[in-house]
Amino acid sequence: MKILVTGGAGYVGSACLRYLLSQGCDAVAYDNLVQGHAQAVPQGRLIEGELADTEALTAALKKVKADAVMHFAAATCVGESVENPSYHYSNNIGGTLSLLNAMRAAGVKRMLFSSTCATYGMTPKIPMSESTPQEPFSPYARTKLTVEWMIRDFAEAYGLGFTLLRYFNASGASSDGQFGEDHDPENHLIPLVLGVPLGQRDKITIFGTDYPTPDGTCIRDYVHVDDLASAHWLAIGATTPDTREIFNVGTGNGQSVMQIIEACEQVTGQTIPRELADRRPGDPPALVADPVKLKKQLGWQPRYTDIKDVVATAWQWHQANPAGYVSKEASCATI
Ligand code: UDP
Repeated sequence: MKILVTGGAGYVGSACLRYLLSQGCDAVAYDNLVQGHAQAVPQGRLIEGELADTEALTAALKKVKADAVMHFAAATCVGESVENPSYHYSNNIGGTLSLLNAMRAAGVKRMLFSSTCATYGMTPKIPMSESTPQEPFSPYARTKLTVEWMIRDFAEAYGLGFTLLRYFNASGASSDGQFGEDHDPENHLIPLVLGVPLGQRDKITIFGTDYPTPDGTCIRDYVHVDDLASAHWLAIGATTPDTREIFNVGTGNGQSVMQIIEACEQVTGQTIPRELADRRPGDPPALVADPVKLKKQLGWQPRYTDIKDVVATAWQWHQANPAGYVSKEASCATI
């Protein structure tokens, strides 16, 4: 199978790209390298380009003779989406419209889309199944839900098989310590917490301690990035031009912000000072997956079920690459 991976130099996209290659699949990243890192992409597997450039995308799809697209490229920060919704709407919705038109032009009939548990929003019921009502709580989540509907509409009108994967919180780093999480600016909890024992910050700020959860801090379902990647591999294998599917991808276990900090303390052996702060706008109290459909229907089994093992992979990466990908040399010639 030949797959074009938009956002394939990003954190989750590059993990999936490398997983596809490890399974013998002919996969190529398409990325503008604004958030992505050429260093995360294996040799000769990167096409540099903008999602909004429909012509360049169409040419890339034709060049790699793509049978399918995995679509990761997106703006992903909840807080940023509240401050700058224009960027999120144009990037996520405008960019996907460009991609869908390029796929039509190139005759590509299969697609996996990185959606998010954030589309479920404020639901009081956890764990969340795929039929949980979607009431997105932030501009970011609303862009993702809108894209889900764009894909459904294109599928009906033009014929397109799709699987929507609603991720919970991608986390961790590759088990060989070579590839990890590196955003600029970094907004995600685990890399921020690990920055304290690395000496990059003196404390972690906890956003909100008055949530209706046992310790008052937000609960999330942290799924290892390589387990996300294996879900993509199973999902693309099951996606035909007639498929219209949705799966949650999460472990089914929730961890509070406080529990994540404690796991980081156990893994690093260091005390991590905390500062209590107000809630971050756009954050729902608790997001935990019911992953039973993915397990039953596609046989998915996460390798990482203990949060400390997830944190340990992240710690290994951050210790070896304290400045992120900056210190690594890119091995890929762009094509
Ligand atoms: N969080 C926090 N302090 C930080 C960063 C994040 O308390 O410095 C919280 C955030 O409010 C959320 C959880 O950690 O409840 C996970 O946030 P992250 O940005 O990692 O992922 P999100 O759930 O927003 O996709």
